[in-house]
Amino acid sequence: MSKSIKDMGWDELVPGAALFSFDQTVDGMIAEVQPEDRTYAETNSKNAYVGDWRVIKPVWNTELCIDCQNCWLYCPDTAIISRDKEMKGVDYDHCKGCGICVEVCPTNPKSLLMFNETEKNEIALTKWPEKKEKGEK
Ligand code: SF4
Ligand code: SF4
Repeated sequence: MSKSIKDMGWDELVPGAALFSFDQTVDGMIAEVQPEDRTYAETNSKNAYVGDWRVIKPVWNTELCIDCQNCWLYCPDTAIISRDKEMKGVDYDHCKGCGICVEVCPTNPKSLLMFNETEKNEIALTKWPEKKEKGEK
């Protein structure tokens, strides 16, 4: 009996294999469907916890966020949760800690900052930097 792809290790996959995220038999624009209503393929990592790859994590400061959606747009892992153009938080089950969301956050100070994975978010929020003045590095 062939093994389910869910039970396979990365080194058991055929080189060059295409792992589809969504059920290819369903017609329509998947981008128009809310994540919880999508038809995920068996090879999608939606139900897999992959956050343990991370050593640093983004912490979100709701007080500073202007809901610009840059972080949502640029996150390579779809790990920023947004609903109706409002930032809702970080999906730590899938975030890999790349820091791109922090780089593209335009507020001063930033509304997302990277902290050690072991730092509690409540503590991280007490360490937020002050607003930088013009010309200040
Ligand atoms: S750190 Fe990277 S993976 Fe995590 S939310 Fe930010 S952009 Fe996405
Ligand atoms: S990039 Fe920054 S300001 Fe924009 S939505 Fe994300 S956290 Fe908020």
